[in-house]
Amino acid sequence: MSGLLRGRTFFKKYDMKKSYDVVIIGGGAHGLGTAYYLVKNHGFKAENIAVLEMNYIGAGGSGRNTTIVRSNYRTPEGIRFYERSMELWRGLSADLDFNMMMSNLGHFTLAHTDSSVRVQRERAETNKLLGVDSRLIFRDEIAELCPELNMSMDIPYPIEAALYHPPGSVLRHDAVVWGYGSQFSMRGGHIHQGIKVTGIRKDGSGKCIGVDTNQGPIDAGVVMSAVAGWTTQVTDMAGIRTPITNHPLQAFVTEPVKPLLHKIIVSANLHTYISQTDRGEILIGSEIEPYTTYSMRSTNTFLEHSTANALDVVPLLARLKIQRQWTGYCDMTPDFSPIMGKTEVDNFVIDAGWGTWGFKASAVCGETMAELIGTGRTPDLIEPFRLSRFAEEMLVPEKAAASVSH
Ligand SMILES: Cc1cc2nc3c(=O)[nH]c(=O)nc-3n(C[C@H](O)[C@H](O)[C@H](O)COP(=O)(O)OP(=O)(O)OC[C@H]3O[C@@H](n4cnc5c(N)ncnc54)[C@H](O)[C@@H]3O)c2cc1C
Repeated sequence: MSGLLRGRTFFKKYDMKKSYDVVIIGGGAHGLGTAYYLVKNHGFKAENIAVLEMNYIGAGGSGRNTTIVRSNYRTPEGIRFYERSMELWRGLSADLDFNMMMSNLGHFTLAHTDSSVRVQRERAETNKLLGVDSRLIFRDEIAELCPELNMSMDIPYPIEAALYHPPGSVLRHDAVVWGYGSQFSMRGGHIHQGIKVTGIRKDGSGKCIGVDTNQGPIDAGVVMSAVAGWTTQVTDMAGIRTPITNHPLQAFVTEPVKPLLHKIIVSANLHTYISQTDRGEILIGSEIEPYTTYSMRSTNTFLEHSTANALDVVPLLARLKIQRQWTGYCDMTPDFSPIMGKTEVDNFVIDAGWGTWGFKASAVCGETMAELIGTGRTPDLIEPFRLSRFAEEMLVPEKAAASVSH
């Protein structure tokens, strides 16, 4: 079988070649975004780039996340990085000619204790210094902006204050995957689904020269791992150690109802978050599970805890029926920041450590990883996220900005 096969979708299907300039492992938003920007920004021929996906594109975290994008992080390194992603999100529908259905709802991080108020104040001030729209607001303004919230003082954790981030938004994760994927594919880029990478090939000097797959070996000038929750499996193949542990993260939606919740609500202390989707479902998420596993089994314990916490915050949800529940993997790092860039294996680069926060970074990851591969230089924006920072004790501590993690 050779040449072009037209399928039912607007993806083109090509036969797999024996050699590519760049092989990207993982068909999530990060891998597909990188492929797109390599062609758009760095003059790569699309037909010389392959994205290898063992399942179907978007099968990982890219199709399982709760679609929140924001840049109200804690560290200057994090804020600058996620703010660049916000700039890209705002223009992405036009850029990809694909409606991302971005809804700018505004994002609340509720603080229920004095120490949490201090953390949110610190974030607000650092955000402002870097030009990001965030401010600390108190009970009266919270009640005015979001009347659905439970402002009672007669509950275990009354709301004291909130970090308000007006640009916080949700957008369609499937549109991000399909937008990047279809634009790359229509330019001639190779997306191969159902192809599992089983090994990282090296030459005698230890340099990466390609991958082994369930369909045979492929040569590559550069190999990029963009497999998020599966990262340690691929880095093991490359002989690289990372401090990543893999935890499940669950979420659920209720039956759809008319618009009733107009903000994205995150509770830093109750470890729960709530938003209403464009379809009308109430979407509720929680913290990561404390155990490490490669199981995607959803649990009843999660439902019990997260519904109780969500109802403390927005009691009017009490009569809604739960419609669907799911789980994804989170590749957690010790400092809650990603791991991006070159590795000790020449020509093998990684984009990992995306934990609970990687969807919002998909756009800036694509852009910066493409720049790294295209120019051979590490962009300033991702330099702080280098793998070697753990050995150098130069962590980028973002735990306080994750809000829903242990
Ligand atoms: C319930 C939940 C809610 C979340 N909510 C948010 C949120 O609101 N905001 C936010 O910013 N982030 C959120 N996240 C995190 C976010 O989903 C991820 O960090 C992000 O999607 C990672 O994208 P990716 O493209 O790097 O990886 P993925 O989308 O996980 O893609 C990796 C792909 O690699 C493939 N793969 C793995 N191993 C191989 C192999 N050996 N060969 C070939 N292919 C392979 C997998 O099949 C997978 O499709 C959430 C995560 C979960 C689970």
